[in-house]
Amino acid sequence: MKIALFNNNQIGIVQDDVVIDIGDIISWDKNCPQESLEHFMKNFDALKKEIEEHIPYGSTYSLSEVKLRAPIPKPSKIVAAPINYLLHRKEMNEQFQTSPSTVDKLGFFLKSPSSIIGPGETVELPFRDRRTDHEAEIAFVVGKKAKDVPSHEAHNYIFGYLALMDITVRGKEDRPWRKSFDTFTPIGPWIVTGDEVENPNQLDMNLWVGDELRQSTNTENLIYDCYKFFEAVTSVMTLYPGDIVTTGTPEGVGPITEGDTVRIHIDRIGEFSVNVQYKAGV
Ligand code: MN
Repeated sequence: MKIALFNNNQIGIVQDDVVIDIGDIISWDKNCPQESLEHFMKNFDALKKEIEEHIPYGSTYSLSEVKLRAPIPKPSKIVAAPINYLLHRKEMNEQFQTSPSTVDKLGFFLKSPSSIIGPGETVELPFRDRRTDHEAEIAFVVGKKAKDVPSHEAHNYIFGYLALMDITVRGKEDRPWRKSFDTFTPIGPWIVTGDEVENPNQLDMNLWVGDELRQSTNTENLIYDCYKFFEAVTSVMTLYPGDIVTTGTPEGVGPITEGDTVRIHIDRIGEFSVNVQYKAGV
């Protein structure tokens, strides 16, 4: 299923070019979308049949006429992989002389949850004199509390997948500073449940700035794939329902500037775009 938040924090299932409101049958509270979403994910297996039966009778909206919202509005944390594609590691070493990371111990960092925005919203650049880049990433949302989960069990804890842009100011500051400005984590277009994605480690992913294709890869090129990265993260910290984990970006990162439209597409997940402008006053 494709689970979207739209308009005034309504929840719906996306099918083809429509979204069907399911708020009535899952005790959804529009005023607390994150808490409602976590409750929904915990109870999803029990609710699934009822949702499917409801779909022919639910209020239906044309996808082109709704305002999609960030599908996970306020996670307790966003855990992000650093350099996790070989060719991206090469370009970072060449352009920024980053210290080579060791492949056998991939670390991670945290992005601020307050940096999240949804499809169609605007990335606000905080500096005119600093390079700020797009990074296309496949991310997933945690469905069950998880600690010390081996990779072969990770799929039982991952609720679904989404596309994520890890917007980044280049420079020497620590990653959380460079990646946590408000608006620096566009996510969307919705959550696709794991059963519908099948294999998240074999999906084409592309990102365009305007009409220019900047990043193009398949997630089979991940150094730590989604499941292995899940194991690495949960060996350190507990993940809670609603947390977002993002797996890192492939080669082709590049600067964005005012007036740009940035679009990400991942097979089986979908696509969305955001606009770019300077933050007011800079
Ligand atoms: Mn990244």
